[in-house]
This record gives sequence, C-alpha cells and structure tokens, in this order.
Amino acid sequence: MLKDSFQRTVSYLRLSVTDRCDLRCTYCMAEHMTFLPKKNLLSLDELLRVSRIFVKLGVNKIRITGGEPLVRRDVMFLFNGLGNMMQDSSLHELTLTTNATQLHKYAQDLVLAGVKRINVSLDTVDPAMFNTLTRWGKIETVLKGIHVALNAGLKVKINAVALASIDFSHTLKLVDFCAQHKLDLTFIEVMPMGDIGNEQRTDQYLPLSSLKKQLTDTLTLTPSNHSTGGPASYMNCAETGARIGFIAPQTANFCSDCNRVRMTCTGTVYTCLGQSHSAELLPLLRDTNISDNDIAQVLIKTVADKKKGHNFLISKEQTLDPLDRHMNVTGG
Ligand code: SAM
Ligand code: SF4
Repeated sequence: MLKDSFQRTVSYLRLSVTDRCDLRCTYCMAEHMTFLPKKNLLSLDELLRVSRIFVKLGVNKIRITGGEPLVRRDVMFLFNGLGNMMQDSSLHELTLTTNATQLHKYAQDLVLAGVKRINVSLDTVDPAMFNTLTRWGKIETVLKGIHVALNAGLKVKINAVALASIDFSHTLKLVDFCAQHKLDLTFIEVMPMGDIGNEQRTDQYLPLSSLKKQLTDTLTLTPSNHSTGGPASYMNCAETGARIGFIAPQTANFCSDCNRVRMTCTGTVYTCLGQSHSAELLPLLRDTNISDNDIAQVLIKTVADKKKGHNFLISKEQTLDPLDRHMNVTGG
C-alpha cells in the first residue's frame, strides 16, 4: 500500500525517538550541539499513533533509533505499545539501534516487550580510541550492556563506521571480538550528514572498498547470500566462522531495492536518508479535525514521491555539500 513510482514497496519504518545523545561520536555530531526543544518532540502516544497508521499501510518492521533512543524518558512505554502491535496486528519485527551505554538497564524489558535482535554501534574495542571517537564514552559500560543483552537472550549485531583514523590492527581486534562473542559485524561507510565541527569528512572517509580489500588480503572471506532485508551485503569469514557485512552507500549503491522510510522525533517523514524530500506530520497529529485516514493519505502520497536514490558523495578530495541535518536527527 506504500508504493513509490519505481515500484518499490515500503515495509520498514525507522523511528527516531530523540535527537539527544549521551555521546558525541565525531562523525555524527559536533561537540557542542543545540538539541530540539522538548516541546517540538512527538509524545510517545503520538509516536504510537503514527506507527499504527504505518502498520495499517503495510509496514511490518519498525526500528527504534535516535539520537540515543534509550535516553528518551519512559521509552519502554513506546516499546511495550509497539510490542502489543506485534501481537494483534501485522507488525512482525521490532528492533533497536543503540550505543549500548544504557543497555544493561533495559535489555530484560526489551525482551519482554518482544524485541529479539538489536544493533549496537561500536567502532572499536580499544578503550582509549573509543573514548576519543565518542569524545567521552567509556567502553566498559558498552561492553557491560552487550553482555547483559546477550544473557537476556537478545541477538546483537555490531555496526562499526569505517574511519580513516582507525588503524587496521584495531579493525582486526573488533573482528576478533565479534567472532569470540558470536556477534555479526557490519561496517558502514561514513556519510556526509550535518556540520561536525572541527573535523573534516574528507579526513574521516575510508572507502569500504579499501577496507574490504585489506580484510580479504588478511582473512579468507567468501560472499554470503545472507540478507536481513537491509542494505548490507555479507561475506563469510573462514578464520572466525562469523559473518561480516558491508553497507557502502557511496561505493556500492543499494537504492534500487530500498524498502525504508524514516520519521524524526518531531514527526518529519523522510523517504530517503540522503535526500531532503519529506512530509511534516506534527501539525496534522495536533489538529483534532485530522483523522488517521487523512494522515494515511499523506503518507501514501509522500512515499509515492520517494526519490530514486541518495545524493551522498565524499571522496578523498572532496565532499558534496553535506545534508543540513545530522544523523542523530533522522536516525541511522
Ligand atoms: N545512538 C544510536 C547508535 O549510535 O547506535 C542510534 C543512532 S546513530 C545516529 C545510528 C547509526 O548511525 C550508528 O551506527 C552510527 O554509527 C551511525 N552514524 C552516525 N553518523 C554517521 C555518519 N555520518 N555516517 C555513517 N554512519 C553514521
Ligand atoms: Fe550518539 Fe549514536 Fe550519534 Fe554516536 S552515533 S553521537 S551514539 S547518536
């Protein structure tokens, strides 16, 4: 029911519940950020209402993201409401992307709400490097979160942004860590989103094609046909027995089978992470004359206008003007 003009069906919603975060990853944010006024945020009830409309329109997978979703107050109210939708509607999967700093407190409740697998963002297992990349993060809390999540029965996938500043020896340590704990690992190419202060995108950018080459020169990697319905392509690693994924928006365009839309915590629906095309739901949600059906019609029209592909470009020499929003606004 949510179809675009390129015959792609949208069945996956990434829902950002806050733009705030307790870390400041150097590729995601500037150190000093002005966050959205709390009054502009959709309430948890409004987030549930929009989710219900999306699900009626055929969305069967929702990923909660942010900012850091687990810093949103009472976020379990949302997870529990969405969990109920999995029992009485066609929502099939509820997942989360988190930096894991608060995960030890929430893992058990997430399982009870119906979450089965989560993505944890972790770019390095080196404590000092982690602290530098996140500007002040402590890796111990993240490792504790992962540990508690695994014990609670959650399947954990690690997402790591490929960065020029990370020495390949550290990448191999992350590969080892994931293999030891039986965690799938996916590398993501850095995308030019928002002003990140003093750092230059061109200095951060490491093409995944070159990381993949370094990995294949060191490890025995063979293509895997595994798919999670997302944009990653996977390789099997003979030495560790684990899978390694690659999400490369710039060196391997994956838009042709995109099934996703994103909604920010203020109710802006973006049909592509790398385009500005959007619809504003907040005024509609707060107008008592607007029904769920009216909102559904807006979503149908918005998806129909989804662009063919993203507009990201960074190379060693140049970056196209970054999108004027940070990744923490739309969610990764
Ligand atoms: N705070 C949560 C976390 O870090 O998992 C969820 C939100 S975060 C914006 C989602 C994902 O986006 C993370 O995996 C993060 O590494 C990734 N990300 C942030 N900025 C990025 C950028 N400019 N390019 C590529 N990935 C980015
Ligand atoms: Fe926060 Fe996630 Fe962005 Fe890092 S990537 S600053 S953890 S929102």
